[in-house]
Amino acid sequence: MTSEISADVRAAVEAAKADVCALHAYLPAAELVAWTSGNVSARVPGADLMVIKPSGLEYADLTPASMVVCDLYGNRVEGDYAPSSDTGSHAYVYRHRPDVNGVVHTHSPYATSWAARAEAIPCCLTAIADEFGGDIPVGPFALIGDEAIGEGIVETLEGSNSPAVLMRNHGVFTIGASARAAVKAAVMVEDAARTVHLARLLGPVTRLDDADIASLHDRYTNVYGQKGAK
Ligand SMILES: [Zn+2]
Repeated sequence: MTSEISADVRAAVEAAKADVCALHAYLPAAELVAWTSGNVSARVPGADLMVIKPSGLEYADLTPASMVVCDLYGNRVEGDYAPSSDTGSHAYVYRHRPDVNGVVHTHSPYATSWAARAEAIPCCLTAIADEFGGDIPVGPFALIGDEAIGEGIVETLEGSNSPAVLMRNHGVFTIGASARAAVKAAVMVEDAARTVHLARLLGPVTRLDDADIASLHDRYTNVYGQKGAK
C-alpha cells in the first residue's frame, strides 16, 4: 500500500502522523473523551490525503505508525488498522472546505449535553465571542458510518464564525486551519458549555449584542496573541 504515496509527499505524511498522534493526548488530558471515543484528523499539506486515528485503539496505545492515511473519500491508503468510523465525514469536510486542515470529534460531556437537547450555546460571554464569533450552533442528526455527518457539519458552519458544531443527539465536531486549532476549539467548546451550564443553573443568561460580538471576535482574531504564532 505504501507505493501509493509518492516520495515527494512522504515527509509531509510522516509529519502529519506524528502531529495527529501527539494531538490525541489532549483529548483524555482535557477529559473530552471516554475510553476510545473521539478522534483527530489532519489534512496532509500538498496531497489529497488525510491522517486519522485508527478505530478502537486506546489512547495510550496510539503511535505515529498506528495512524491511518486515507484519501479524501475516506479510503485507506496506508496503515495497519481500519480508520475511525467517522473518517468519511472528516473526508467530506476536507473536500468541501479547502481552508480546513484539521477536524476533531468528541462526545465531551457538557457540550454533548447541549447537543442532546439540540440547543445552541448562546454567545453570552466575551470568551465565546472571541473564540466562536457568535452562538455555537447545532447541526442536524445523522447516522454514523458514511458522509452524512460531514454534510451536516459543512452545511451548519457555512457562513458561521464558529469552528465548532454541536451535532444533534451525538456530540461535538470542530474544524481548524490546523489540527491543533481544531483541538483547541474542542477544548474551548467544552469550557464554554460547562460555564454556560453553570450559569443557567442559577438563572437566565444574557446574550451579548451582535455589534459587541463582532468587535470582540475581530480583536481576538486579528490583534490578540503573539504575531506569527499558530
Ligand atoms: Zn461520535
